[in-house]
Amino acid sequence: MKKCHKCGEAWVSEKKQPAVKEYCEKCSGYLHCCLNCRFYEPKLHNHCAIPTTDWVGDKAGANFCDEFDFRDAEAQASDGGAAASARDLLDSMFGGDGPKSESDRLDAFKRLMGD
Ligand SMILES: [Zn+2]
Repeated sequence: MKKCHKCGEAWVSEKKQPAVKEYCEKCSGYLHCCLNCRFYEPKLHNHCAIPTTDWVGDKAGANFCDEFDFRDAEAQASDGGAAASARDLLDSMFGGDGPKSESDRLDAFKRLMGD
């Protein structure tokens, strides 16, 4: 789900990205702005994960950035889910119903690694 950075209103469109001057129907905030972009990283140079982009002064204003990619809240959430499921996998391999002793775990690990 792509959402307005300002008010959280969902952006529903058949297009992949909003037009440069497109704005939120609810709060009239610009959608094509750094704050809505998945590359927006305040800690980085130019506050952007892509080093070749130009400096944008107004992070909430419409920008003309070619790299703009509307941040997808659910995609980010599912990234966390992937990490969680990896942990679950490890737990299922090494904990819970898995082998109990350290040497058993090591053997199980070696089998998994094809050794
Ligand atoms: Zn809004």
